Amino acid sequence: MAKKTLEDCPPETLSNEIVVVRVDYNLPLDADGEVVDHTRLVRTLPTIRYLVDAGAKAVLLSHLGRPGGRPDPALSLRPVAGRLEKILGSPVGFCPETTGPVAREAVQAMKGGEVLLLENTRFCPKDAQNDPGWAEEIAYGTQLFVNDAFGAAHRAHASTQGIADAVRRGGGEAVAGFLLEKELRFLCDAMVDPERPFVAVIGGAKISSKIDVIEALLPAVDGLLIGGAMANTFFRALGWAFGDSLVEEDCADTALSVMEWAGEKLLLPVDVVTTPSITPDAETRVFASDQVEEGEQIADIGPRTVKSFAEVLGTARTVIWSGPMGVFELAPFQSGTYGVARAAAAAADAGATVIVGGGDSVAAVAAAGVVEHITHISTGGSASLELLSGKKLPGVEALSDR
Ligand code: ADP
Ligand code: MG
Repeated sequence: MAKKTLEDCPPETLSNEIVVVRVDYNLPLDADGEVVDHTRLVRTLPTIRYLVDAGAKAVLLSHLGRPGGRPDPALSLRPVAGRLEKILGSPVGFCPETTGPVAREAVQAMKGGEVLLLENTRFCPKDAQNDPGWAEEIAYGTQLFVNDAFGAAHRAHASTQGIADAVRRGGGEAVAGFLLEKELRFLCDAMVDPERPFVAVIGGAKISSKIDVIEALLPAVDGLLIGGAMANTFFRALGWAFGDSLVEEDCADTALSVMEWAGEKLLLPVDVVTTPSITPDAETRVFASDQVEEGEQIADIGPRTVKSFAEVLGTARTVIWSGPMGVFELAPFQSGTYGVARAAAAAADAGATVIVGGGDSVAAVAAAGVVEHITHISTGGSASLELLSGKKLPGVEALSDR
């Protein structure tokens, strides 16, 4: 990797030093403010344990939700600190301020080996504004800033980019944490030098949100499997009937040029699961993709498609998957996504590198019960898509060069 990582920081240099760490603890909370899924906490443990074991004072910064630059009690990180303490197995302090005298005092009072989580960075508008003065404040005079927040690395905010710049201006280092390093390694290796065959599975609601990724992946992959609602726009471009299905009319030309460019690399669903209305107890029917009747909505890929996609995945050595194959949140339409999830898991079991990215795709893999089999589950939805599209991530660019 071209950027420095925590591995470049020997533990003996960290004892009793303040180390500021940007994590992505933007966790799903329920209506009572309880943490629903703590995967993102668990994924930062290697970085935090490394710092705790080295006797550093680990000051953690994160955003949570979109409070719009104002304090919002419903989006406090306090419950997250409690949850982190449980899974870390050692005390985690919480400070209800991000900057100011209370926070400064809390940081000053820390002892080596302690962890302190500061309040939601987005309670202050200066985070999203990438305010350089505020970036200095949240750096707390540290000589080492660790970015472990892959999910926020595509944003040029004070707590991602500004703080790295500030620490480096002050003669310190800004490095990637172990999670960020792993995310970059998997995604970059796949794009730069994948073991072949290299197959991408792209689905989800909209072609418009993933067209950059599709265009970046096409020259790199040996096969591109398209599912989800975005396949409908391809059907539309081919002049096929699509009933009442979700279609992006203004993307039909894009779909057509992707098809021409991709040639035989592109595989569209040969059959689809449809329903008159997408509800939890919907009646479903299966049609060949070019035979969908009026009044029907496409809500999943069909069984023949699952079989053919599974065969392709069975031969792959590298797989990238982003976007569910259907409305997997509802039982009548989950077979396609779960079928692909099982095929991806089997490919990984057979030695392929399988990478899954995207909030809903990761949730689908978890719901299908195959998380443990997947080689790498990306914690950054948008960040992984931007990286796969060949874009630079400001939070990574700002780190110290090797
Ligand atoms: P990710 O978060 O993994 O990047 P997206 O956000 O792009 O995925 O898309 C996920 C959403 O797409 C899901 O909520 C799913 O219900 C929806 N979706 C997939 N297929 C269809 C379809 N055929 N019709 C309507 N919605 C669909
Ligand atoms: Mg999504």
